[in-house]
Amino acid sequence: MEIFGKKLIGWYLQNQRKLPWRETGDPYKIWLSEVILQQTRINQGLDYYVKFVESFPDIHSLACAPEKEIYKLWQGLGYYNRAQNLIHAARTIANEYNGRFPGTKEELMKIKGIGPYTAAAISSIAFGKPDPVVDGNVFRVLSRVFGIKSPIDTAGGKKEFVSLAGRLMEGHPPGDFNQALMEFGAVWCKPKNPDCVHCIFYDECVARKQNTVSELPVKKPKARVKDRFFYYVVAQTQNERIIMKKRGPDDIWKNLYDFPLFVTGQRTQALKALNTLTGKLAPAGLVYSIKHISHEYIHLLTHQRIHAVFIRIIVENFPENRLENNVLLINQNDIENYPVPRLVEQYLQDQKLIK
Ligand code: SF4
Repeated sequence: MEIFGKKLIGWYLQNQRKLPWRETGDPYKIWLSEVILQQTRINQGLDYYVKFVESFPDIHSLACAPEKEIYKLWQGLGYYNRAQNLIHAARTIANEYNGRFPGTKEELMKIKGIGPYTAAAISSIAFGKPDPVVDGNVFRVLSRVFGIKSPIDTAGGKKEFVSLAGRLMEGHPPGDFNQALMEFGAVWCKPKNPDCVHCIFYDECVARKQNTVSELPVKKPKARVKDRFFYYVVAQTQNERIIMKKRGPDDIWKNLYDFPLFVTGQRTQALKALNTLTGKLAPAGLVYSIKHISHEYIHLLTHQRIHAVFIRIIVENFPENRLENNVLLINQNDIENYPVPRLVEQYLQDQKLIK
């Protein structure tokens, strides 16, 4: 146990990558980096981190910023509930905690939008508390070095790994230990073909000895991916305005913008979907011509495969004063200012409606 932490921290001190959030003790910046880097590669996350720190240098500036601006900056990072949590937590800390982050994991977890992982990262790195942080990299390293076969995506499995990381951390600076373990997984004990021969854990690693490196960590069998078919109507008026819709809270891409949409569980004819959509947009009838029907775009989410077709129409008699809630008629040149899902962004770029 003792040797594990010693070797790990020794390796970290020599090999860690220089990253801006490692050079600060500011809990705001540490929190920001943790939220941005979840499910995101460091190289991609780094740009977002820099943009966020430049635009919102402290918790108050983030808490006061308009949501639209934050989502726009977040665009492309995916997993929009993280952006939502970011906004929620920033406002709570600014308003209810006077802008000061609480210093313990338990207190941090009372804030809606800060989960156990992020709370442990802040409490250990910014405040030196002995709270283990267990991310995908940590699961990989620990499962291999100690030969643990419990599924990492079950409550029981997670508990086992957190408890082991806690015991291994004893006697070491918690922030360094956590960052070292995550870094070792990210740069050395990689998912595929890690360099076991030159590894600092060559002698100890159970997976190497048992030849099970490629089988660890273990996950429970995958849930089935659901196919959903999206038919978008991209309706433009003759004076170059376009109809967009703010997405509601009950489905994917909460609070982002897209177009009036028909969703089904089976592929259907684009024209049939268009009839339904135009009937909803203007029950009294709509005069339009079809400009373009896109190919089917495929977009993969964790448990869903979205098949999307965009039907672009030019409308002659749009009933501007009878738009339903959340429907906006905007100038085509302004589309760029609205945060949209990656799938919609791809379509808009293909159609040269944005750069
Ligand atoms: S020996 Fe291989 S599997 Fe084990 S910790 Fe090192 S790199 Fe990872």
